[in-house]
Amino acid sequence: MISFDFMDAPDIALERLLHEKYNRKEGVYKFITGRVAVENLAPNDVYRWLVDWMNQQLSDIGVNSTGGRRLPPIHFDLVQVVTDIKNAHVLEADGLAFIVVTQPMVDEMLRLSHALVERNRALMGLQIAPAAKSHEIAQLILFMQFSLVTAHEYSHLVRGHWDDKQPPEAGESLSQAQELDADGYGIYHDLSYFFHGRGRLITAQWLRVSNVKALENSILDCYLLSLMLQFCARWAGKTQVVWDADAEHPPQPMRIEYSLLFVEMWCREVGKISTSWMTDGTLNRHFDTVASLFRSAARESWKLQMSWLRGAESEQYRSQIRRSVDRLRTGKA
Ligand SMILES: [Zn+2]
Repeated sequence: MISFDFMDAPDIALERLLHEKYNRKEGVYKFITGRVAVENLAPNDVYRWLVDWMNQQLSDIGVNSTGGRRLPPIHFDLVQVVTDIKNAHVLEADGLAFIVVTQPMVDEMLRLSHALVERNRALMGLQIAPAAKSHEIAQLILFMQFSLVTAHEYSHLVRGHWDDKQPPEAGESLSQAQELDADGYGIYHDLSYFFHGRGRLITAQWLRVSNVKALENSILDCYLLSLMLQFCARWAGKTQVVWDADAEHPPQPMRIEYSLLFVEMWCREVGKISTSWMTDGTLNRHFDTVASLFRSAARESWKLQMSWLRGAESEQYRSQIRRSVDRLRTGKA
């Protein structure tokens, strides 16, 4: 049993928790060696900025974002790992919750953001942010990817995915439905922040866009690109080509498809903004832009998964997932 001195600061409590888990070689945590001491970095360092930003969000959670649910105090940290592991976790211990993202994952986001902006100067300069410098646009794409990943982890907590002890219905993959549910809830959270919250101001400053319509178009473009970057990065990291029904996460193309539906729903129901981008070719163009950043070997294996998902063979799987996600979102059987 791990116990914390109640007076410990959360970062010290996390450091101790990780140490104990590391020493006992427990599950996924055996790869985590400790937190990144961002307080020792320069105030404008990107790691430090992201960690501070996230902890500020978490200390300022209103009823709106928890759906009225009582949450333990949540602390965020960037963690170091023994190998090049790129992922994020939520840990709960003794009345505290921790969201952690590994340093290689943030480094990958950084790399992808810069590659995307550098290799698509025309798109950036003509459509997204004519007056901004490349590094400012890349900074926003990094920030949006980070927001996607952390909002997803946060959503697992808010949606109580781990206290649902009900056995899943026969053949149902509860964990896969929960992953899609966390994607959806996280996307709603992000879009409200970027369109209606402080994220709108940050975006306007970094992209140097003040016109209302242009700003909203740019927020949407950058968010869609960031979303595809993250899913394609996870997808490219997988060597598995054949579909695995026992996997914890749904296949990445499925997550992309659902995520785009969640973005569309938000635009229609909350943002009251146009959803013509769903059908006017924007999505294909953005996907090609993002996919071109990945190795062609990875892209070849994507085609296989996509044709499996589009084929008759996946029909049963798709309808099952649809039922499970509906059940989670509405609370009804
Ligand atoms: Zn998850």
